[in-house]
Amino acid sequence: MINGRFKIFLDFDGTITQSDVGEEIFRKFLDKEVVNKIVENLLSDKISSRECWEKLCKAAPAIEKDELDNFILSQKVEPTLHHFIEFCEEHNLELFVLSDGFDYYINKILTREDLNHLKVYSNKLILDSKGKLLPYFPYYNSDCKSTANCKRNHIIDNSGEEDYTVFIGDGNSDKDPIQYVDFIFAKKDLLKYCEVNRITYFPFKNFDDVIVRLNELGSKKRLKKRHQAELKRREVFLIE
Ligand SMILES: [Mg+2]
Repeated sequence: MINGRFKIFLDFDGTITQSDVGEEIFRKFLDKEVVNKIVENLLSDKISSRECWEKLCKAAPAIEKDELDNFILSQKVEPTLHHFIEFCEEHNLELFVLSDGFDYYINKILTREDLNHLKVYSNKLILDSKGKLLPYFPYYNSDCKSTANCKRNHIIDNSGEEDYTVFIGDGNSDKDPIQYVDFIFAKKDLLKYCEVNRITYFPFKNFDDVIVRLNELGSKKRLKKRHQAELKRREVFLIE
């Protein structure tokens, strides 16, 4: 029985959307070399995710609101997304969007898709009257270097002992949170990370693949929790 059995945690950029919207915004409005250098430093762990966003916002020139908004609204979601959201609603699977990107564009895209009822945790971004981008990090935690919005804490705060937790993601900001869930769906860089670090995961190309697998898991009488994740979750409670 799948009903209510899983808690779903879903990345936004490159998972809900086809491209990494946050990164694309900076690639559009800033010098490409500058962006590449900052992102490279993030990916080689020289700077944290928060530092990366702060540097990018600081380096950005004044941006016209209309131009920014039009660019955001040109970004597409994964074609199978709606099917997946309906599947979760049909089976009472609680779903949370955990993004290391910004509310500014996430809200616009989810509203366009009629999905603004989804629960979202993300960083915040303001475009001030001079066209400057000002980032805020309400969920920052210095333990989580690779994600300025500490996704791990949202997983722990929104799931209990009885829940089977599921994470679906694709990139750098998902490396930390996947350590704390029972079932990992990974593509692109996150898939490579799981391979290299021998973390058990399910590869996926689109959300229909996730549905097939969740149906399979849901039909099992007994499901096993991932032991490594249980240990990691316990560690957090011991520290705090
Ligand atoms: Mg992503």
